[in-house]
Amino acid sequence: RGGIASEDEDINVQIEEVTKVFEDEGGEEIVAVDDLNIDIRRGEFLVFVGPSGCGKTTSLRMIAGLETPTEGRIRIEDEDVTGYDPRERGIAMVFQNYALYPHMTVKGNMSFPLRIRNYPEDEIDSRVNEAADLLEIDDLLGRKPSQLSGGQQQRVALGRAIVREPSVFLMDEPLSNLDAKLRVQMRTELNEIHQRVGKTTIYVTHDQAEAMTLGDRVVVLNNGRLQQIGPPQYLYDNPVNRFVAGFIGEPPMNFLPVEIRETSDGYAAVGEFFEFELPADIVQDIGEWDRSLDHVTMGIRPEDLHDLSILDDDEYTENSVVEATVTVVEPMGSDKFLTLMSPTEETTEFGARVSPEIDVEPGDSIALSANLGKIHLFDDETGKNIT
Ligand code: ATP
Repeated sequence: RGGIASEDEDINVQIEEVTKVFEDEGGEEIVAVDDLNIDIRRGEFLVFVGPSGCGKTTSLRMIAGLETPTEGRIRIEDEDVTGYDPRERGIAMVFQNYALYPHMTVKGNMSFPLRIRNYPEDEIDSRVNEAADLLEIDDLLGRKPSQLSGGQQQRVALGRAIVREPSVFLMDEPLSNLDAKLRVQMRTELNEIHQRVGKTTIYVTHDQAEAMTLGDRVVVLNNGRLQQIGPPQYLYDNPVNRFVAGFIGEPPMNFLPVEIRETSDGYAAVGEFFEFELPADIVQDIGEWDRSLDHVTMGIRPEDLHDLSILDDDEYTENSVVEATVTVVEPMGSDKFLTLMSPTEETTEFGARVSPEIDVEPGDSIALSANLGKIHLFDDETGKNIT
């Protein structure tokens, strides 16, 4: 689960015990990044994700050389570059405001980084043409940025980074200026481009969906601290704590307070309006936990609650059923998102993602079965995932 690679892996960038402390106007210390350790593999697409202010941009800027770590080291290609200028690091950055030169053509923009480094004209031409080909912007080379769509400008900005043939691409929210539809389209394109170029890419976003679709691995940060690093599906299935569980996945995981009680057949998670039988592997996890666990928080994703009416009798057990009152119905095409209230006191709100055929309206009662194998239990004090 850690960010440290084994010895035989081909590591491109290393973040070693990096901490960054800023001072505000009043002299108060702000720990933007707190003891970060990550080995980034050659060719991988690594995404930093987390809420505003969690330290994503600061981490990226330290790799770029735009910010100096207060403690720790950055290595690129096995070389300690902590004190190096951005230009000496073999990296290229793509920002959210593409910073294209408005008076230059696309070709001029893409040539610029090579021209200022005095590359010969024929080398510049061949690199620009190759990148334009790769990005499918060959027929735009003669245009000015103002004559391009947002997505095209984004591709030119990428092209300008690609021509330098850097060892590492750094991207800070490069899609955030695009409208929702184009953003999703560019996400797919970035995936394709990364597969073709095959270079290490380190990408910052606050959008967990973007992180999930783009990342070979995702780094979840909160308050400057690494919460978890891993492939997106792994984080979704095995969040280490309540923060990651709530951050990854949309609509977010439901959190419900429960008591763990011994029953005649084993153990149950008993909530305000339901009693779920706990599967053997979770019971074992509870047994191995080194703290008392009378009160914990149960996590269950909206997609792991299924409408009873579409399940066969052998597809659920009595001890997985929860009844609730529907308060909001949001059709989303491929499925329907229901906001639900506990039937008793109506104090607890939770969500379920059900089949679009389920015909319910606000005010209706509904019975759902929880997929008990997908339950998570979080230690209330530490937030850690027990399961
Ligand atoms: P966002 O998604 O909002 O861009 P982020 O995760 O990229 O956030 P950072 O920009 O890395 O977060 O900031 C991390 C913390 O460091 C924040 O509390 C921020 O206010 C603080 N910070 C960043 N840059 C500076 C600076 N130059 N001086 C003082 N504090 C800073």
